[in-house]
Formats: sequence, structure tokens, C-alpha cells
Amino acid sequence: MKIAIIGAGLAGLSCALTLEKHGHSADIFEQRMEIGFRYDIAELMTPIFHTPINDSVKFFSETYDIHLKPSSNVQKIYVHSENESAFVEGNIGFINMRGEYKDAYEKQLAQQLVRSKIHEDNHVTHEDISKEYTHVVLASGDPQDTQQIQPFDVAYASAFAGAIVKGDFVRNEVHTWFNNHFAPKGMGYLLPHSTTEATLVLVYPQYEDEWVEKRNQFWETMVKQASRTLKQDIIIEKEFTINDYMIGKSRYPRIGNTFFVGNCFGAITPFLGFGQTGAILSGIYAAQDICGLGDYEELCKPLYKDYDDSLVLRRGIESLSNHQLDLVTKSLHNSMVKKIVAQPNMSVLKGLSHLLKPFTPK
Ligand SMILES: Cc1cc2nc3c(=O)[nH]c(=O)nc-3n(C[C@H](O)[C@H](O)[C@H](O)COP(=O)(O)OP(=O)(O)OC[C@H]3O[C@@H](n4cnc5c(N)ncnc54)[C@H](O)[C@@H]3O)c2cc1C
Repeated sequence: MKIAIIGAGLAGLSCALTLEKHGHSADIFEQRMEIGFRYDIAELMTPIFHTPINDSVKFFSETYDIHLKPSSNVQKIYVHSENESAFVEGNIGFINMRGEYKDAYEKQLAQQLVRSKIHEDNHVTHEDISKEYTHVVLASGDPQDTQQIQPFDVAYASAFAGAIVKGDFVRNEVHTWFNNHFAPKGMGYLLPHSTTEATLVLVYPQYEDEWVEKRNQFWETMVKQASRTLKQDIIIEKEFTINDYMIGKSRYPRIGNTFFVGNCFGAITPFLGFGQTGAILSGIYAAQDICGLGDYEELCKPLYKDYDDSLVLRRGIESLSNHQLDLVTKSLHNSMVKKIVAQPNMSVLKGLSHLLKPFTPK
């Protein structure tokens, strides 16, 4: 077998690692000069949308011998709406670095490879390499590459504004803001990297041209709001913006001997845009199929289910006015609700659907 992987991101590298563990190796093509996500940011890896995983670091280590060292664990997540604030406590997940950071997850994965070769500075297309290889794994992180080959159903495209910021932060506390005035149908969040540095992000669907045009204005309001909530000046260090970031799912996980993994598969759960767990899982599953240890289409069924459930939840939260968002936030003070959302063995999707039910259209 001659296996090519397009993209040395989370999905491609997890695929390569799993192939190696079962006696195979792959040629991995990476367009960048050096491995690393396009953005130097922190991300949150939470298994909450992938039951029955409770602790993703432990799960990947014990189940698949893939070892990840996050930068911190999250014990508290604050939810701020226009007039209310609440928090949920528990083992909510982990913060990890991406991009240029030396402990970025993609760098950690690459270090665990033994035989597979990463061809850096090597942009390839499916067409370029499919004749030369028996199996091609499309892991470029870009659903437009999937669309060259098969339908990719887009739930929404996102606009982002974000920055690395300096301030005084509590490492294992995450803040989120839900406010249609500056994050229409979207959210803002702050993920600390350390006690002095954090990633601050604003993300929302590009449903209206006006929302894209107003991004700078929304971003300024978001930064002011974060400063107010955290009662300190937030110092912006390195800003970025992204347009047209597609959240959706491929029609088929596999066509012939081409496997669609990570974002090319549809790894991002649409509710809040978490894609890391799904990216790693889809990479592992594709490798298992190539090694004759499973059927990729079958293995992907729970991922498609998580995607669909999460999309229902997203459509629910999108319908909420600021007043309703206040009511949802307020209901988080209720200890029963907190229990539902933070319970390790319960499907958080189910818990959240339950929580949002009174507020969403019938
Ligand atoms: C700003 C932002 C914040 C996010 N925050 C979170 C979060 O907090 N939690 C979470 O779970 N998810 C988050 N996500 C989503 C998450 O980052 C992705 O779902 C995940 O990285 C997808 O992994 P992947 O392997 O499919 O793609 P990537 O990690 O993007 O890797 C794709 C790789 O392929 C390379 N490549 C692309 N095209 C080619 C080509 N033609 N030839 C060779 N190489 C190529 C790229 O350079 C890249 O290295 C966020 C995304 C963004 C943009």
C-alpha cells in the first residue's frame, strides 16, 4: 500500500500515527514551510459533544496511544449575556496551543511519528497525487478541497476576529460572551494560555453582509466588553481575522480509496465550532479502515450524529434574542441545571437541548 496524506494538521497526523502503530507509513504533504496551524492561538478541546469521552487527553492516550499535553485544564466556564453572568464548574476540557507555539498540538503529534515522512513546503492537490498512491487521505482542513470531489453541505460560514491579548488571567477559567449586539448569533470567548496571556476571539455566522462589514466595530465592542467583565485593561498584541470559515459535513466520508478527514470530513460540531476532537478521531478511523481494522463509514456514524445533534442546538441558540439569552444564562444559576451541563457521564448535547428547550421555537 502507498498512502498519501494531504495536510499535516490534527487529522492528517493522527491518521499517520495510527497507520504507524499498525505497521504502515505514509507520505504526508504539508504546504507550509513548518508544521503549525495557520493561526497562533489557544483552542479549547472539550469532549462534551462526543459522548462517551469524558477526558479527551486520557481517552486518546489510553485508547489510541496518542499522547497530548495541553497547556491547562478548564475547571470553570463563565457565560456572560447582555445583563447576566453565570458559571459552570467541572472538568470541562483542556486548553492547548496551535500554530507557531512550540507545544502546539500538531507539533506534539509530529514528534510522535517514527517512519512517516512529512514533505514540508509541498502544496499538492488530490489530482496531483491520486494516480501515484493506492490511498489518499484528504486532511487539508479546507472543505473547498472536499467540494472539488463531492458535495459538502455547509451549515454556515463564519467570520472571526481575534487576538493574542495580555492581562491578568486565571489559567483554568474560560469566559464566553453571548450578545447579539456585537456577536450576532455567535459568541466571544477568552482562553488563557498563562496567567498573563490569552486568546480572545469573536466568531459569528456570516448570514448578513452588514455583519461582515461591521466586524471591526463588533470587535472593538467585544474587547471593551471583555475589559469590563474582567475589570482590567485588555492589551491587544497580535490580531487576526478570518472570513468564510466553513462549518459543514461531507456527504460521504470515503469515496473509493480517498478518505475525507478533519474539516474536510465535517469534524466541526456546529453549535460552538469545536473541531479538534472530531479531527483526531476521523484521522484515526480512516487509518483503522486502511489497516483493515474497521469500516470508516461505520466508524464515522457517531461523528455525523454528533454533528446533526449539535446543529439542532445551534439553530436553537441562533433564534434567541438578548432577553432570552439572559434567561438562559440566569437559569445556569440553578444547581440542577449546572449538574445537567457539567455531569461527566451525561450527554452534554442532551443537557443543553433540555436547557434551551423552553426558549426555542416549537
Ligand atoms: C480561529 C479558530 C479557532 C478555533 N477554535 C477551536 C477550539 O477552540 N476548539 C476546537 O475544538 N476547534 C477549534 N477550531 C477548529 C479546529 O481548529 C479545526 O477543526 C481543526 O484544526 C481541524 O483539523 P484538520 O486537521 O482538519 O485541519 P488543520 O489543523 O487546519 O490542518 C490542515 C493542514 O493542511 C495543510 N494544507 C492545506 N492545504 C494543503 C495542500 N493543498 N497541500 C498540503 N498541505 C495543505 C495546512 O497548512 C494545515 O497544516 C478553531 C478554528 C479556528 C479557525
